[in-house]
Amino acid sequence: MNKVEGFICRSCKTRTYPRHRRCPTCGGEDFESFDLGGRVRLLTFTRIYMLSLAFHERFITLGIGEFEDGLRALGKLLVDEPKVGMELEVVTGVVKMENGIPIQGLCFKEAAGA
Ligand SMILES: [Zn+2]
Repeated sequence: MNKVEGFICRSCKTRTYPRHRRCPTCGGEDFESFDLGGRVRLLTFTRIYMLSLAFHERFITLGIGEFEDGLRALGKLLVDEPKVGMELEVVTGVVKMENGIPIQGLCFKEAAGA
């Protein structure tokens, strides 16, 4: 399964996801990638209906997860009844289909032992 890549600014070490053209902290343009993983806290979420045909689902739930260092990332929430503040872990999963090909992306599931 693919990994989701985050990016670290080589100048100031700020982590971003997804990649920005310039670092939001120092304006640097030189990044290295890292595997986005670990635990996040759910900050907020929304459920989207009326999806395009690229989604083979009745609805999807998107959430913003905050990592320990403050990095916030938008991902697909694989939780039936999400609650703000719950602990999640990063996984990779199918986020949509493009021409019949599943596209992998950032997802969150309920953290083990949470
Ligand atoms: Zn920077």
